[in-house]
Amino acid sequence: RKAVVLDGKKLAKQLQAECAREVASMTSDGKTAPHLVLVQVGQDPASTIYLRNKTRAANEVGVNSTTHRLAENVTLTELLHLLQSLNDDPAVNGVLVQLPLPPQLEEKVVCNAVHPSKDVDGFHATNIGRFCMDVPCLAPCTALAVGELLRRYDIATFGLNAVVCGRSKNVGLPIALLLHGDGQRQHGLDCTTTICHRYTPPAVLRQHLSNADIVVTAAGVPNLIRGEHLKPGCCVVDVAVNRIKNKDTGRVKLVGDCHFESCVEVAGHISPVPGGVGPLTVAMLMRNTILATKQQRQLT
Ligand code: ADP
Repeated sequence: RKAVVLDGKKLAKQLQAECAREVASMTSDGKTAPHLVLVQVGQDPASTIYLRNKTRAANEVGVNSTTHRLAENVTLTELLHLLQSLNDDPAVNGVLVQLPLPPQLEEKVVCNAVHPSKDVDGFHATNIGRFCMDVPCLAPCTALAVGELLRRYDIATFGLNAVVCGRSKNVGLPIALLLHGDGQRQHGLDCTTTICHRYTPPAVLRQHLSNADIVVTAAGVPNLIRGEHLKPGCCVVDVAVNRIKNKDTGRVKLVGDCHFESCVEVAGHISPVPGGVGPLTVAMLMRNTILATKQQRQLT
């Protein structure tokens, strides 16, 4: 029996509709809709697509959005100045700087320059720290997306084995924190979680995969995971987005880290690329923007 394919696109529509209802009830109470500010540095084509998707999602749910486009060679001082003015502006509820950034802008410095209360990407050290400690925070959207996908499809996690492939600070690590976290305190999933990365020998990765009830992969390595590596019936969530260019046609195809055709034969559930985690991540950004707005209004 083939795996159930986790339909992130459909679920994202549902989540967007929930967000739209929340925004509508906010505005019908006489409050303004949340305002999300997106910042793009340079013109990386993938970033442009991501930002377009975020703007479209904002329009769909009734969140106001503004995009600041800065030149590739903008200085750190100039960017920090813009972020400071957005932090100080009470009409701005969420601020997101699209990554990656050019080399003169250190990502850690930039992420920490967004006020934690407006940090809708969940990348500020304060939010990551709170996330680690299982206390309420704005959490990274990809981790929230994985959690929501598992929850809405009723995938059991409590006490089970999870493997995360990839330990990037923005994707792999937050996902591992969510899987490992305490569900009684916050949204943790109570798994026994193993993190594999580029220095995990392939044989060791396979050993861990063969025991994994949940596999989440964000390594950026096409075909890293094949059906024969998996524990039958496991749940595979493929977070990776790898662009493969066809040499003859020049067309770019998106693939994840999983060899889908073999994995779908062994897994119990699997998320596709595209149409899996990607659309959900954007929906979670909307949810974070609404949450940030509500929390800011409680404080004033
Ligand atoms: P992302 O932002 O999607 O997480 P990065 O390129 O920043 O992507 O990070 C890729 C991560 O994948 C790194 O943590 C790296 O160690 C991990 N990785 C790379 N190759 C492998 C591999 N063969 N097996 C497991 N993890 C890997």
